[in-house]
Amino acid sequence: MSEVCVLPRFHMASLSLAPGVQVDLPEGAARHVQVLRLQPGDALRLFDGAGRECLATVTEMGRKAVSVVLGEAVEEPRELPVRVTLAMGMPANDRMDALVEKAAELGVYAIQPLVCARSVLRLDGERAAKKVAHWQAVAVSACEQSGRAVVPKVHPVASLQSWLQSAEAHAGASAVMRGVLSLREAVSVREWLANAAPQGLEGAPQDWSFLSGPEGGLSAEEEALALSRGWSAVSLGKRVLRADTAPLAMLSVLGAQFED
Ligand code: SAH
Repeated sequence: MSEVCVLPRFHMASLSLAPGVQVDLPEGAARHVQVLRLQPGDALRLFDGAGRECLATVTEMGRKAVSVVLGEAVEEPRELPVRVTLAMGMPANDRMDALVEKAAELGVYAIQPLVCARSVLRLDGERAAKKVAHWQAVAVSACEQSGRAVVPKVHPVASLQSWLQSAEAHAGASAVMRGVLSLREAVSVREWLANAAPQGLEGAPQDWSFLSGPEGGLSAEEEALALSRGWSAVSLGKRVLRADTAPLAMLSVLGAQFED
């Protein structure tokens, strides 16, 4: 990894990416810079969450505000070569926070939190929207730390039933590999990948979606519904993984399979 990698990185949604332009850091980033005790002249990196990134230099440390001048663009691709969406029954407590953080580190493209028949965590309305905003912020922090310039999107909470039937779940369905992580009758992940992408990345579908259950698992009806809509049942091995483990295991298998 190059030396600029060790510079502190901050997310800034509306980054102009024009060298020489002076900008004030967003509040959270400014606070962080204060905590790190950076000084005028110190370098950092800014990224917009959509894949663009640049160097910047602190020009002024105010009491609260921090001004920087933008430097040259940085191009260090860190995305997985396939786009992976994880749709999962949200685990309760802070396990979902950890799951979002680790999925972002492992390169997830999007996260779809679901309320399933056996979900412990049942969120809707304002509470759901607040949680989603919180998880989105967790994803941003994970990207600041892990070097990603693309922030995975955390979609609004949906019910499994309606999500499966929605257009989003099936947009471009033919080009999307869709697997239900299943403890029932299922093909091993190794065999499934060998069929889905026999030549590795070459010719492999770009988009992959995985459905994983909450603590109580997916009900037989939920799995049957997914299978009837063209999803395949995929096994991750003989052990029962927790709701916050299975999606991460799948993601790392895909990384190992497709990333150089
Ligand atoms: N108590 C539940 C366990 C749920 S585990 C039960 O017995 O059904 C939570 C989710 O993780 C499951 O719904 C499934 O989607 C996924 N999962 C766990 N272990 C798995 C494995 N070995 N292979 C594939 N998926 C798994």
